[in-house]
Amino acid sequence: MAPSHALRCCKRTLNWAPVLFINLVVGWSYYAYVVELCVYTIPNNAERISYLVVFHIFLFMFIWAYWKTIWSRPASPSMAFGLPRAEKELYEREERAERQQEILKKVAKTLPVYTRTAGGAIRYCDACQVIKPDRCHHCSTCEMCVLKMDHHCPWVNNCVGFSNYKYFVLFLAYASLYCVVICATVVQYFIKFWTKQLPDTHAKFHILFLFFVAALFFISIVSLLSYHLWLVGKNRTTIEAFRAPVFPNGPDKNGFSLGFSQNVAEVFGEQAKYWIFPVFSSLGDGHSFVTRLVHIDPEQANSVLQQNGKSPAEGETTPHVISNSVQHTEDNSIKKTDEGQTVSVTVESEP
Ligand SMILES: [Zn+2]
Ligand SMILES: [Zn+2]
Repeated sequence: MAPSHALRCCKRTLNWAPVLFINLVVGWSYYAYVVELCVYTIPNNAERISYLVVFHIFLFMFIWAYWKTIWSRPASPSMAFGLPRAEKELYEREERAERQQEILKKVAKTLPVYTRTAGGAIRYCDACQVIKPDRCHHCSTCEMCVLKMDHHCPWVNNCVGFSNYKYFVLFLAYASLYCVVICATVVQYFIKFWTKQLPDTHAKFHILFLFFVAALFFISIVSLLSYHLWLVGKNRTTIEAFRAPVFPNGPDKNGFSLGFSQNVAEVFGEQAKYWIFPVFSSLGDGHSFVTRLVHIDPEQANSVLQQNGKSPAEGETTPHVISNSVQHTEDNSIKKTDEGQTVSVTVESEP
């Protein structure tokens, strides 16, 4: 085995350490709650059963969302974003960066790509050899381009992006609720052990520790959850919150924001019955996004545009919304539809 290959295998195995840590903590919390609290400490049968039922419901939802976040493979750009053979050969032979950009620009014209690098160039991944779709980034840990990449999360040893962002937010929500359930039901026994109303048994150590661990995890998880709920409401990824996406006419941190309810629907879907379950219900295909361009005149905010392909008069500062000009079919190939068609939307005013 080559040393570099062995090193990579070793690194991959080590990447699972945080996941193993979470599993050990959850496994111990299960033992402490079910055996030490419910079996050995709670004297009342009805109380014990009701605690066990509620605990298992939240544990199940938490594990389900966590499992889906870990094992959902990050979505990568479809073949349509690779360079056609002739252009690829030209691109590889060409040494001048400006000429390479011209080749990329020509190919990008046929794709729903509106964001650029900070220098205004077409975003191209040399490692994956694809034109990066809007909101897509290359993850150096996963060694691939990830659609609507949010961040690489060591706690799930996976990239959080288009394919699992909803699961990730639900994982944070159910992890917080799991901690709330533990704290709320353990607290009275915690006080009884603390004030010596209950005798010192081996359950005492587990129950005191269980309360502290659940409270600590709750504080850290709920702050992360609040941040991600804020991001969902603004239709921003963590990467975009740190570095605004750059559109042809400049960077705009609200470039993908379509108003609160539409932003929430983009992650959780339009049918409320699926919101609380870690099943895929996000809108779109992850390759193209409804894009709001910059330079919105505040006087015209909240106006409803009804352009239907009609371009505004010269010099007019009208907000534009570019609809996705491609549709993805089931085999992941791209079909062109009415190119550049402008859709009508209510443009929200944001600071
Ligand atoms: Zn890449
Ligand atoms: Zn990754």
